Amino acid sequence: MKERTLLPVAVVSLLLLWVGTLALWATEAQMTDDDAGPRVSGSETSIEWKLVTTWPKGLPGLGSAPENFARRVGEMSNGRLTVRVYGAGEVVPPFEVFDAVSQGVAEMGHGASYYWKGKIPSSVFYTAVPFGMTAQEMNGWLHYGGGLELWRELYAPFGVRPFAGGSTGVQMAGWFNRELKSASDLDGLKMRIPGLAGEVFAASGGTAVRLAGGEIYTSMQTGVIDAVEWVGPYNDRTLGLMEVAEYYYYPGWHEPGAMLEFTVNQAAFDRLPADLQAIVEGAARATNQDMLDEFTARNNESLTTLLEEHSTKLRPLPDDVMDVLHSNAVIALEELKKDDPMAQKISASYEAFLDGVRTYHEISERAYLNARDRVLPPITFTDQ
Ligand code: CA
Repeated sequence: MKERTLLPVAVVSLLLLWVGTLALWATEAQMTDDDAGPRVSGSETSIEWKLVTTWPKGLPGLGSAPENFARRVGEMSNGRLTVRVYGAGEVVPPFEVFDAVSQGVAEMGHGASYYWKGKIPSSVFYTAVPFGMTAQEMNGWLHYGGGLELWRELYAPFGVRPFAGGSTGVQMAGWFNRELKSASDLDGLKMRIPGLAGEVFAASGGTAVRLAGGEIYTSMQTGVIDAVEWVGPYNDRTLGLMEVAEYYYYPGWHEPGAMLEFTVNQAAFDRLPADLQAIVEGAARATNQDMLDEFTARNNESLTTLLEEHSTKLRPLPDDVMDVLHSNAVIALEELKKDDPMAQKISASYEAFLDGVRTYHEISERAYLNARDRVLPPITFTDQ
């Protein structure tokens, strides 16, 4: 009786050992697969998205954001969502990125919201407002001050869902082929300057021209334009702007915290499972902060190169130029709000946040920078 019960126990034990060994092999095989990089198991299908950009393919800084986003999404989703990035003109021309995402030609876009000003006037709030918020302030407004919700409301009629897509920090006022001694020197100046600032510049005596990044160098070289604002030392050097203009003006009154955008086709986003939606959102948020980190690290070294190796002449904009630009910025903002309830709504939120954050930054950011300057050695530039 005892022997007859022991035999089945031994068989079952052997069976369990065998099954356990198989399971261990399977786990090891899985781990080896994981180590080799993102994979999709046979039972799941990989979703592929197109991301179209307004930047030339491979442009450092602005253009690396969509590439970094795509890499992050691939890694975080273990290859379940693949994003393929197309530079300006590869699928659609740069200024058709928004329409392409809206119509589902591409699931995603990367660019600057103010490029769509003709179609959506209030989009300018989401790149930059002249004399408005810095990058840190914009991020605070967007993510904790109601800015992002209003942005989604603004783009909803087009079936587009926006996310912050990187910030350059305070930009430079731009490159000029002549010196600006007073506000009257703006008269007749043709400048590449988009967004609300373009209207401000035109009202201040100049002519504003809208050009994509890939067209700027040649337009400046051939004299189609006299001045250009692009970004700051790091990206301007990449475009070679120091070769086509002598004077480099600061600060970027027009783009104090210029922010970029990821746009997502809402229907495509809705089709994603919740975890992939969270990955898209998380990767966009990481990429948004990452760009500011990179510009902060690289602008200074690029500025040094411009001054020391290219004889760029660095100049502050004269106060009377700033005053004229500010007066016209106030008028341009009033014009934008006139008869546009959405512009009024966004502007009210933006201005209330700016008022509040200015008060605190007076005794934090500014007070600290002043205190630091008082005790550290003075800052000098080689050309001044
Ligand atoms: Ca700019």
